[in-house]
Amino acid sequence: MTNSSNQTIRSACRLCHGVHQVLVQLEGERVVKVSSDPDSLLGGICPKGVASTELLYHPDRLRYPLRRVGARGANKWERISWDEALDEMAGRLSTIKQESGAEYFALTQGTGRPYTDFTARFANAFGTPNFTGIAHNCMTPRVLASLFTTGSLMPPMPDLYGFGGQTPACLMIWGSNVTEIGSVQGIGGDSVNRILRQAQQAIVIDPRRTDTARKATQWLQIRPGTDGALALAMIHEIVTENLIDDEFVQNHTTGFTELAAYIQPYTPEWAADITRIPAEQIRRAARTYATTKPGVLQWGSAIDMSACSFQTARSLMILRAITGNLDQPGSDVFWVPPQGVKLKSLFLNPERAGKLFLPLGKVGRAVDSLHGKQQPSWLRRLVFAGLDVLKDRFYDKIMERSCRKPPAAQFLTFQKLKQGRYPLCPIVHPPTFWHSIVTGAPYRIRALWIMGSNPLLNSTNSREVETALKSLEYLVVSELFLTPTAQLADLVLPASMWLEQDDVVNYMKQWCVLARRKMAQVGETRDDREVMIQLAHRLGLHKAFPWANYAEFLEEVLAGTGLSFEQFCERGMLMGEMRYEKYKEQGFRTPDGKVQLICRELESLGVSALPVYREPPLTPISAPDVAANYPLILTSGAKTMFFFHSEGRQIPSLRRRQPNPLVDIHPETASSLGIAEDDWVWIETPKDRVRMKARLSEGLAKDVVSAQHCWWYPEAPPPEYGWKESSVNLLLDGTGCDPDIGSEPLRSVLCRIYRADPPEWAADEESQQVAIAD
Ligand code: SF4
Repeated sequence: MTNSSNQTIRSACRLCHGVHQVLVQLEGERVVKVSSDPDSLLGGICPKGVASTELLYHPDRLRYPLRRVGARGANKWERISWDEALDEMAGRLSTIKQESGAEYFALTQGTGRPYTDFTARFANAFGTPNFTGIAHNCMTPRVLASLFTTGSLMPPMPDLYGFGGQTPACLMIWGSNVTEIGSVQGIGGDSVNRILRQAQQAIVIDPRRTDTARKATQWLQIRPGTDGALALAMIHEIVTENLIDDEFVQNHTTGFTELAAYIQPYTPEWAADITRIPAEQIRRAARTYATTKPGVLQWGSAIDMSACSFQTARSLMILRAITGNLDQPGSDVFWVPPQGVKLKSLFLNPERAGKLFLPLGKVGRAVDSLHGKQQPSWLRRLVFAGLDVLKDRFYDKIMERSCRKPPAAQFLTFQKLKQGRYPLCPIVHPPTFWHSIVTGAPYRIRALWIMGSNPLLNSTNSREVETALKSLEYLVVSELFLTPTAQLADLVLPASMWLEQDDVVNYMKQWCVLARRKMAQVGETRDDREVMIQLAHRLGLHKAFPWANYAEFLEEVLAGTGLSFEQFCERGMLMGEMRYEKYKEQGFRTPDGKVQLICRELESLGVSALPVYREPPLTPISAPDVAANYPLILTSGAKTMFFFHSEGRQIPSLRRRQPNPLVDIHPETASSLGIAEDDWVWIETPKDRVRMKARLSEGLAKDVVSAQHCWWYPEAPPPEYGWKESSVNLLLDGTGCDPDIGSEPLRSVLCRIYRADPPEWAADEESQQVAIAD
């Protein structure tokens, strides 16, 4: 870095699930401003991106490794060096591996961040199958629906940019409030806003009249959690009214006859009773999407957080296929990544995930594989041991062959070996994982490394998670701040944030990768990937981590492009080739090269080959007895513009704009309960209750309330920082999961609401504001 003078550097923000090009202004060595790059195709940045400098230099940032010196949770720490921290960790992990086995160590990660380059690889190389995170509730159901329907592990993405000479004429936005939160899964709010202005038709499916819904030509106010029924009814309408794309269906799909027969009962009238959307609205939306070409379907994580996630996503993939809205200019496309860049996504590159490093004998030892079962038989263990010898010997050949197979076949092989509690869940099922730590069944995990995650806030059954964290023998947390979760650690490792990282920035913008140079260093923070390399070397895992350091890894990522990292930074961006209709030359990567409207492969895992709808487990329909006492439907998990899940509550400029957790409630409902705008209220489910402030909104059905998630109060006293006050996950219990993939119905449970006294810490809101600003 040459920071001797003031300068502005082009870079890429990846603070959330977006990717935005930014201008970073430096005065000497200090970053003073992050702003939108006016020349960027990806649009302007959000307040979180603007606040990156506040995050970077925040006085509470973790700057050095910390070792616990008092009782767990007593907030007593000593500063230690990185060498001490990594030596200690390597020693503890080696001892556990020697004494009990590698599986007694587990690793969990947060949302999609750069550390995902290495986390699964590290767990596999160490030899533990106990790798978990939040995949079951975020993106993976859609990724797998794409995999089993089209053979692509990267789901098709809306072509909003006009590379093929056309932008979408119809924009269908399903469970994704993208214009109000900055970005989702690689799609920027600005880009969507541009298409909302240009497109002939915009359909929004959401229980809330969001900013995105207000801009649409059709808003379908769906009952939370019933998206699967709506999707089936739209397929019904398009098929029975013969609005399908004949050429595409005939030449590029399999199973249309079976689908057409199967879909008969799922009429718009059937769905109207379930979704509360009038049948005529369903018909109109289906017809609009099928006939206004090209069309895109921008989907969000509302699809994933349900008891019917994978199957709903399958229906939506089918909607794209039967209308021919796949891989056409201006439709949903499979981007061609820049040539020569080794994509880092866990899903796109099995070599990067290091799957082959995990001994097969350990695969069946994951805590969710053994859930409610006997230990693997001696025969299975013997077979695995033999196969492991062969695998080690012929590693390169196996890798080469496995990469030639369709990705779904590779995935199926692994899932069959894993025999997890939920057949499609690629990680250890999180609620099962936490429960196993508490109960010690099938065995008691001894050590856990939490990478960029705050499970006390982001996991259901949060009190059980707390018990689990407290009962671990050794807990390491890699973080930016001392969070309620980090407070329970034995060792805290200070992580770097995006301004402190060199990177080849790739998320879901598959058509480009962006350059980012490290521009700052606060304390001794380190890139999590550098930490994993250094720890792996201490553990003798050189084969899986052959790079001397992270810089060397980045050079390897770019090796195929002929560019060094320095040269790449000078270019700033590499783009893939913009090719459409690729299936016409090469087919889809499925067994017969066609889109699988019916997917027989799924049956081998006991999963329906045609999409189904399941009513969520706790609704007025499925649980009328409970509804008698809890008459409102609670939906949660929707992001806001200012915070990303549990992040950002300590950033003054963001917190000032949203100082308190909010629950949206219809004015008539509020009035009937004696609740006024800004009142504190209790939200209560059969599980627990939490306090939030009421915000009145006519954009919700009268019996639906929408609560923000992952709230904690960094200004409140440690170690809890008030996390038990307002975290919506306290209300959810991790049961009633999707039987295919284990996702949790976070978007629809029963609750009641009543007035509350303001919490003590909020009695004087002025001093609360001062505490935040300090
Ligand atoms: S939307 Fe995400 S990636 Fe884009 S500027 Fe905001 S925080 Fe950064």
